[in-house]
Amino acid sequence: MDLTTYERLVKTENAARNYLLGFCFENHQRFCPRCGTRKLYRLADDRRRCASCRYTFQDFSGRWINRGNLTAGQWLRLIKLFELELSVRKIAQQLRLSYNAAYNAAHTIRSAILAHSADGDLFLGGEVEVDESYFGGKRKGKRGRGAAGKVPVFGILEREGRVFVEVVPTTRAKDVLALTVKKVRRGSIVYTDRYKVYDALMFCGYRHLRVDHGKYFSRGRVYINGLEGFWSYAKERIMKYHGVSPKRFPFYLKELEFRYNHRKEDLFPLITKCLCNLVPKHD
Ligand SMILES: [Zn+2]
Repeated sequence: MDLTTYERLVKTENAARNYLLGFCFENHQRFCPRCGTRKLYRLADDRRRCASCRYTFQDFSGRWINRGNLTAGQWLRLIKLFELELSVRKIAQQLRLSYNAAYNAAHTIRSAILAHSADGDLFLGGEVEVDESYFGGKRKGKRGRGAAGKVPVFGILEREGRVFVEVVPTTRAKDVLALTVKKVRRGSIVYTDRYKVYDALMFCGYRHLRVDHGKYFSRGRVYINGLEGFWSYAKERIMKYHGVSPKRFPFYLKELEFRYNHRKEDLFPLITKCLCNLVPKHD
């Protein structure tokens, strides 16, 4: 989103609120966030009560943006700075929030993105690269597969298309093949390196080709051509956040997947839309 449009949105709290409401309720038609009923009673202070399940709610009840006590204008500013990849410390300074408030808001954005990607049925196909990598842990010591203290991540990348990455318990066949079968259309061409685990792919309905993709994708910072490139982009980004805990790591990983998959789109409305979604029950 360009700055002129953005400035109009954050000019008044009302404008900001209306923009958010547009993502929460199609055509601003309110419904009960619990049961979906449209028959509602208006109460005082902009609250409504569902005629069916009796749930009392406000405009943002049950949604990610309801967390953290921020105004609509503060949220939109936060989204802009998050989109521009500012650190939490800088976001806090710019918005005159406490470090904790900014940190929690950034985590809410990542949680909304994670929930959004778990919700979608991302199917990859055509020419696909499959590979695993290790994140974090001590820099020295054993490298590569099976390195101690590192988080194994499995990735699938559609050439010229989207990427799917996920933390896996191990990089054994049962874990990585199950995910491949779940996410990649049968009949696709799957490129892997020479790791033995992938030998079974041809029995799963794929054309399996082994390549040494390290060789021809390692051109500096160009990361849109292949999974090797995505790994280095992701590692560079995660290095900036010193000491991401293993618990929080999947949130950062999914943020990078999201940024990559929408690299040609305007991120601002996309992030806003995620934040306006209802929080799934288990969160
Ligand atoms: Zn209801």
